[in-house]
This record gives sequence, structure tokens and C-alpha cells, in this order.
Amino acid sequence: MSAIEQITVLGATGSVGLNTLDVIARHPDKYGVFALTANSKVDELAELCVAYKPQYAVLGSANAAQQLKDKLNLLHVDTEVLCGDDGLCHVASHPHVDSVMAAIVGAAGLNPTLAAAEAGKKVLLANKEALVMAGDLFMQAIAASGATLLPIDSEHNAIFQCLPQTANKSLVDNGVERILLTASGGPFRQFSAEQMHGVSPEQACAHPNWSMGQKISVDSATLMNKGLELIEACWLFDTDQSDIDIVVHPQSIIHSMVRYVDGSVIAQMGNPDMRTPIAYGLAWPERVDAGVKPLDFIKLGSLDFEAPDEQRFPCLVLARQAWQQGGTASAVLNAANEIAVAAFLNKKIGFTDIASIIEQVLAKQSTVKATTIEVVQTADAEARLLANQIVAEIH
Ligand code: NAD
Ligand code: MG
Repeated sequence: MSAIEQITVLGATGSVGLNTLDVIARHPDKYGVFALTANSKVDELAELCVAYKPQYAVLGSANAAQQLKDKLNLLHVDTEVLCGDDGLCHVASHPHVDSVMAAIVGAAGLNPTLAAAEAGKKVLLANKEALVMAGDLFMQAIAASGATLLPIDSEHNAIFQCLPQTANKSLVDNGVERILLTASGGPFRQFSAEQMHGVSPEQACAHPNWSMGQKISVDSATLMNKGLELIEACWLFDTDQSDIDIVVHPQSIIHSMVRYVDGSVIAQMGNPDMRTPIAYGLAWPERVDAGVKPLDFIKLGSLDFEAPDEQRFPCLVLARQAWQQGGTASAVLNAANEIAVAAFLNKKIGFTDIASIIEQVLAKQSTVKATTIEVVQTADAEARLLANQIVAEIH
């Protein structure tokens, strides 16, 4: 590693991407930006290139890439511009890169995140969908290349911080009894099933504690986010969903907990600000300033907890079911969810149709062993087709 750690930020224009750049900018002596990527936001990526002068920038299409090239030429910024999946994989696995922040949303993040894992990078994983789709293959790639995998999702980062840092020991051998995965409950925590029928995308995206991208905001409202996180935790910590409890904690101050056999419970707390897990991932095993407001317990007053209601939030049950089925079922769950969430955001279906579409796709599509990435991608494509057909029938 060079003195300055070189970082590729996949999904740089998103909520996690921008928070990552905020932390990086606080420590120019430690971190440098090697590459920045975005899907279609040419102007935003151009601004980031002016500010961070990366060696590479990547956009989704050749057309968008040409627009960025033209803009950067005028601005005399000599960042090289690439496009598409090949461009993303190139900057995720480039020999000059030390760390990759995987912050693309959804299945689009799978290939570059896997490329970073295969190239033995320090992988800062925010893109939970990659792990949900292809957890087995992804964890194998990490083990084979000797890559370092650091969870950035706040709950998993919290669990990671609460676990003993003893390599090659199982959770049981470390005296871990249970993982307590916390959930805010989202904006509809107190809504009845009837009230949820008519909610709008705007209401679903107005998360009470976190400011996030639209897709994960809707996932938080359906609680599919917690379902995806359950699967994510199983892969990351080599455990089963039966060893994980979901605890609804509306204030999002405790980001998750680990209970040990001696009765101790270790919790990681802080204000709900993604810069904490991002800074932890960047600096691990050290700590750096993240610009996060200190937690004020007196102002907080109290913390509340309740059980999740799986009847009002059926996505949780569907995620459990997919994990239990194994193989490509989680990839199917994820793909159907992505299509349903996009359709809801485009006002083609209602909020409660999301769970119903996923349930129908899971029931219709048979599960096979996820032996290769191609098998996973085929299952993903089939699930998208099925989900789109159901959306068209509703619409
Ligand atoms: P976002 O929508 O704000 O940003 C997504 C980024 O991905 C953007 O830079 C966008 O340009 C890029 N992108 C989207 N589609 C793409 C495509 N097809 N090809 C290439 N790039 C594409 O999303 P976010 O909220 O920052 O979330 C990013 C990931 O992090 C998600 O997987 C999410 O679940 C996870 N995550 C987010 C938060 C959060 O606080 N936002 C917390 C935990 C985990
Ligand atoms: Mg989370």
C-alpha cells in the first residue's frame, strides 16, 4: 500500500458515496481518490472530478461518458473517462487501488464488487444486494484472494464492532449466543395494514432517522431492508437466521448488538449518520474523525424497543423464506423486489403490491444451486421478467 490509501468509490453520486467523500476529504494525508463512478448523473460526477481529481471516472453509458469527457476537457481536468460494466470492473480491480467502497445500489453493483473481491482489495461493502444475490460465491472470492471485507451497512458494521476480533474462530467458539439486529421500523411502523394501502412514494421515502437513496428508503418502509440485512448478516458472520433476532428500535441510536453466553450484551451506539461506519471501514483497525455529532444521552432521554410485526410487514417473512430455500432464492427475492420498488416509485403499483409481487415470483420460479455467477444472473433475469409481467397486469 502506498502512504496514501488509494480509493475507488463505486456509486460516488449517491448517499453513501457522498458521505464517503466527505470523510475522505477530512483526511487528505491518509486517503486519495483513485476513481469515481455514477450511472447517469454527468454534471454531479463532473463536479466531483473537479473537486477530487481522480485518475478515472466511470459512467453507465457511452453517451454519458462522452458528455463527461467533453465537460472535463473544457474544465482542463485530465481524468480518464470509461463506461459500463467493464469500466466499473476495471477501476474496482486496478492494481493501483487499495480500497473499494461498494456503494452502487442494487444488482448493478454485483460485478464490480465481485471484481474488487477477486482482486484482493479492501472491500467496504454498502451494496448489500451483491451479498444477498451471490453470498456464497462472494464469500468464496474474498477467502480465495485474501481480500479484507468490512461491512458498511450500519447494523453490520455495529455487529462487526461488537464481535471479538479473533480471526478463524466461529461465533460459538467466541461465546456469542445471539446477534440482535436492530430496525427503525421505518415511516409506517405505526400504520395499520389498511393505512399502508394508500401511501405514496414520497411518504415511503421520508425515513424518520436516515437520509438515504430512494430504493433503500422504500426497502426500509416495507422492512425488506431488514430482510435483506438478515441474509447479509448470515453471510458476513457465517451464521443462520435462527441465531439472529430482529429488534425494532425506533430511535436508531443502537445500531445492533451481540449477546454473549455469560449474559453480556455489547451494543454499538451513535447518532444515525453513515459517516461513522464509513470512517470505521476506512480507518480499520484504527479510528479517524468522521465529522459526526457526539451522542447526547441526556437529550435523548430514552430508547424504545418492540418486536417486528411480520403480518403488517410480510417482506420479512419472504426474506426468511428465501434464505431457508437457499440457492438462487435470495437472488430471485432481490430481483423481484428491485422491480417492484421501481414500479412503486413510478406510481405503477401500490405500496402493498410490493410484497405480493415478490411472493408470487418466489412461488413461480424454481430455485437452483447458485454454483456460478452466470447461474445467479440467469435467475435474476428470469425473476425480473416475471415481476415485470405481474406489474403490467396490475398497471
Ligand atoms: P443512492 O441511490 O443514493 O446512490 C446509488 C449510486 O449508485 C449512485 O451513485 C448511482 O449513480 C449508482 N448507480 C445506480 N444504478 C447504477 C447502475 N445501474 N450502474 C452503475 N451505477 C449505478 O443509494 P444509496 O442510498 O447510497 O445506497 C447505496 C447502497 O448502499 C445500496 O445498496 C444500499 O442498500 C446501501 N446502503 C445505503 C445506506 C444509506 O444510508 N444510504 C445505508 C446502508 C446501506
Ligand atoms: Mg442498514
